[in-house]
Amino acid sequence: MQSMTLDEILKAVNGTLLNVIDRKEVHGISIDSRTLKPGDLYIPIIGTRFDGHDFIDQAIGKGAIACFTEKKDYYNKDVNIILVEDTLKALHSLALYYRKKMNIPFIAITGSSGKTTTKDMIASVLEQKYKVLKTKENFNNEIGLPLTLFELESHHEIAVIEIGMSNLGEISRLVHIVYPDIAIITNIGLSHIEKLGSQEKIFQAKKEILETLSKNQIALLNGDDPFLSTIKSDKFKVKFIGIKSNKLDLKAKNIVKTEKGIQFSIKDKNNIIERYFLNLPGLHNIYNSLMAIYIGKYYGMNFKEIQKGLEKFKPSKMRMDIFEKGKVKVINDVYNANPDSMKAALKVLKDSSKIGRKIAVLGDMLEMGKWAAKFHYDVGKFVYNCNVDILIGVGENAKYYVQGAMNEGLCKEKAVLFKTNDEAIAYLDTIIQNDDVILIKGSRGMNMEKIVNFLQERC
Ligand code: ATP
Ligand code: MG
Repeated sequence: MQSMTLDEILKAVNGTLLNVIDRKEVHGISIDSRTLKPGDLYIPIIGTRFDGHDFIDQAIGKGAIACFTEKKDYYNKDVNIILVEDTLKALHSLALYYRKKMNIPFIAITGSSGKTTTKDMIASVLEQKYKVLKTKENFNNEIGLPLTLFELESHHEIAVIEIGMSNLGEISRLVHIVYPDIAIITNIGLSHIEKLGSQEKIFQAKKEILETLSKNQIALLNGDDPFLSTIKSDKFKVKFIGIKSNKLDLKAKNIVKTEKGIQFSIKDKNNIIERYFLNLPGLHNIYNSLMAIYIGKYYGMNFKEIQKGLEKFKPSKMRMDIFEKGKVKVINDVYNANPDSMKAALKVLKDSSKIGRKIAVLGDMLEMGKWAAKFHYDVGKFVYNCNVDILIGVGENAKYYVQGAMNEGLCKEKAVLFKTNDEAIAYLDTIIQNDDVILIKGSRGMNMEKIVNFLQERC
């Protein structure tokens, strides 16, 4: 972070200095007294389990030169204490101030699935020409996002930021810190439906990312998505990418799937045909890479640079990590699951060209509320239609996968159900054969990496 003066900070957060020690500069922002560095401003956040105010003295001991507080009566003679109404809001106001001060182009990404993948692909492309700041891992919430902005340094030329949500209004709050030049929505799926109640509400929530866009700014959307393709605006530009619709600004054509990845062509606005190669499986990754190609072109990059950026992209941990162990191929996609990403991963299993059996080990999809039975059942049906030889369901709602698959035609012996990962591991241990391809996927809370670790050791 570039240093900020106390005066700048006070003005940005509308704070009151309770005791003036000196008017030094702040060199970093910290919300955690354990990792705070000397010279940082400490911002105590009130969470569900802890109140950061309880650690102010510890932060001072570590060398904080200033602290925010919501508590009027707090006094410490050794540091600058700044009284604010709400420390989280103050963190947001300060992040906004800093973002405006470091005035570079910003790209913001939301959507039901593929945010992190798209964010990392865009950054990988842009890095071939620019110095890029991107959201680390999945730091996409009301704390991770502002802290990401403080990582901006003067050498950065462009920023790529992921915005997550679990309820209405959250993206709106965060996009008013980011003020993106280009706002991306990857798709409107079903995750968070338990809280929001319907897919229309999910659409409404994701659309909040467009709230700050103005005349020359762009909403970059998946034009094959039934919800997103309806978006129109006279306030900002709307551009669509995809592979199906006939009103796309950037379309992938002549798609060829190979064992190594996917090839596809695009025609740009000058009618030049370029053929890209992606060393990743899954049609969903074409959508993610089309976003990156669009952005690369928009910021003046040529085919070679963009292709190199796509080649260098490596999926984050536990997402579509495909590896061979002994004579078994493992598709590790255990990071998380919702009905859309389940189907995307099952398509990858279906397209896998191994000669052996296709085995799907699917854990529960969590947070599906009253739709749990239906969504698990639908995925079960999809399993059968992906030519899966053996379905192994794990969890409470996994019985509906099994029912869906069996009702489509999968025989009883090939659709098995377990309550725990350990039971599934014990079963897998007895059935694995050479040339099997095994997909493992479930919600984060299902900890399906346990099964991946077993396969890594076993095969
Ligand atoms: P989170 O909400 O947890 O931050 P995310 O939106 O960042 O998730 P990723 O982490 O990029 O999503 O991908 C999660 C999984 O979603 C991947 O492992 C893959 O199975 C699937 N996926 C990735 N891109 C898409 C896409 N464009 N459409 C559907 N599914 C996708
Ligand atoms: Mg993510």
